[in-house]
Amino acid sequence: RWAAATGPRRVLLASPRSFCAGVERAVEIVERALARYGPPVYVRKQIVHNAHVVRDLERRGAVFVDELAEVPDVPGGAVTVFSAHGVSPEVREEAGRRGLRVVDATCPLVAKVHAEARRFAARGDLVVLIGHAGHEEVEGVLGELPGAGVLAEDEAAVEALPASLAEGRGVACLTQTTLAADEAGEVAAAVRRRFPGAEGPRGDDICYATTNRQRAVRAVAAEAGLVLVVGSANSSNARRLTEVAARSGRDEAPLARLVDGPGDIALEWLRGARTVGLTASASTPASLVDAIVAALGGLGPLKVEERRVTEEDVEFTLPKEVRP
Ligand code: SF4
Repeated sequence: RWAAATGPRRVLLASPRSFCAGVERAVEIVERALARYGPPVYVRKQIVHNAHVVRDLERRGAVFVDELAEVPDVPGGAVTVFSAHGVSPEVREEAGRRGLRVVDATCPLVAKVHAEARRFAARGDLVVLIGHAGHEEVEGVLGELPGAGVLAEDEAAVEALPASLAEGRGVACLTQTTLAADEAGEVAAAVRRRFPGAEGPRGDDICYATTNRQRAVRAVAAEAGLVLVVGSANSSNARRLTEVAARSGRDEAPLARLVDGPGDIALEWLRGARTVGLTASASTPASLVDAIVAALGGLGPLKVEERRVTEEDVEFTLPKEVRP
């Protein structure tokens, strides 16, 4: 009925959106491990932070565990995949001791941050990691920095760091790959104020996929009354996209909502939103965006347009254990 009164609703698709190269690779690793070794294939933590991806792989024989202690001892070692978020050296050592057949799905861009962490630690630096407590990526990177790493979530946390921590050593700064670039920049500036001469973070710690998806959501948010971000609530990527959308907008910030699927959309959000911006986090399958468009189409006529801010052509090679 609203359509007759107001004409078709406009859906603006942010592009790039959905799977990044690291997530594509991680999901493919589990699929190939299942095909090559047969189920069960154990996966430490969620392979990527998306409930639909995890459920689908579970149906196909993947068994998700929180810790390696839940992986059984079997002759030859159980096939065990490390998630895209990476693991600490301690977890690698435990897998080695247990004789597990590890297939490492750590995103190469997360592995790059680990390599940086090791380089700074070897130099004897204090490393300030900007990121969110409890996130698996953060736990993995901090594991590379025993006695050398400290986590800072925001500017206040940086200001509270005792100056004595840096006595007699240099300071370097790293960031989680999925932060909001603007916020991370402010925290990094606080690190440089607290510890003048601090090195980093490198601009590309926050990965290309995060940066591109944030730019694209800003482009659609500038024209939308409502922005829907498709993703799971435990995805750092998805939450940051929602926050970036809520901070964007031309005259007035749009309403920005994180939804896991069409069932999460509340009709009241749509009231008055003639243009709906739509994006999906790097861990969200494209099919869920299609499902949202179909659900919106079920409510009345739609005009779907895309706002593409850049092309992506990043691809990563598979680990040898699952390479064709
Ligand atoms: Fe890798 Fe970035 Fe994708 Fe994370 S979001 S898996 S760091 S490409």
